[in-house]
Amino acid sequence: MPSANDLFDVRDKVVLITGGGTGIGRGMAEGFARRGARVVIASRSEDHLRPVAESLQAEGLQVAWQVLDVRKADDVQRVVGLALERFGRLDVLINNAAASFACPVERLSLNAWSTIVAIDLTGVFLMAKVAGEAMIRQGQGGRIINISSTAGVFGLPHFAHYASAKAGVIVFTRTLAMEWAHHGILVNCVAPGPIETPGATDATWPTEDLRRRIRDSVALRRLGTVEEILGPCLFLSSRASGFVTGQTLVVDGCTVATAIHNETEAGRTA
Ligand code: NAP
Repeated sequence: MPSANDLFDVRDKVVLITGGGTGIGRGMAEGFARRGARVVIASRSEDHLRPVAESLQAEGLQVAWQVLDVRKADDVQRVVGLALERFGRLDVLINNAAASFACPVERLSLNAWSTIVAIDLTGVFLMAKVAGEAMIRQGQGGRIINISSTAGVFGLPHFAHYASAKAGVIVFTRTLAMEWAHHGILVNCVAPGPIETPGATDATWPTEDLRRRIRDSVALRRLGTVEEILGPCLFLSSRASGFVTGQTLVVDGCTVATAIHNETEAGRTA
């Protein structure tokens, strides 16, 4: 019987994390690198990526970064290419990059809808496709973890664009898990509830009142932490989850109500 350390070991795995310069993605980059994984982080802003990569490199850890817009096929090819060139392989993709803002449907433009779907759903497809092709060529399986949201499970007023894209991520996950099972590629999804990050604070609970109401909608009566998303992702990247594929793990402290935003508040944040 393997020890708990062996079961959850991610040492030397090559892990590509989109949106790895901020919030949950940053926490995962730090968490994986400090457990011995070789990490590539990528997003649109060098200002987000460079400081994270450099501070981890200063600790003697193996981290590379690359500017990436998940909507651009060339960028996606380049970032997977970087993982292969720098570290020789790719074991885990964490599709974490996403964008959102509050807006009621009657005020949501086609352009706004399309932008969010392009980043949050099509970007996940593009990354998974290119990373998966590399894993298939390697012939040793792999792991893909898509970060969805409780908005994609339960819906979320004034986030129809985001919730719809995140729901698509869940079905994409399950479908891809079936298609790539025979390659040994396990595809799973993590659907966080409210997690304390600057990005989510700006987009989802910009006022103290909203924050309190969101916190009160969680059975555990608090927001989650970045570390509480890292844990499930370590599990889904390691031997411990070898018979888990196609699943969505909801990590939300048991959210009991999602109808939080009223029209006045959405008007302020849209
Ligand atoms: P965040 O800090 O805003 O993370 C979003 C990341 O996506 C940023 O690093 C951003 O980096 C990157 N990004 C945005 N558009 C991109 C694009 N077109 N191409 C490449 N990268 C792009 O927010 P977070 O709270 O950590 O969220 C991380 C993930 O968790 C997201 O998928 C989010 O939907 C999900 N989630 C979060 C919560 C929560 O309460 N925090 C709840 C449910 C789900 P750049 O600006 O540098 O591009």
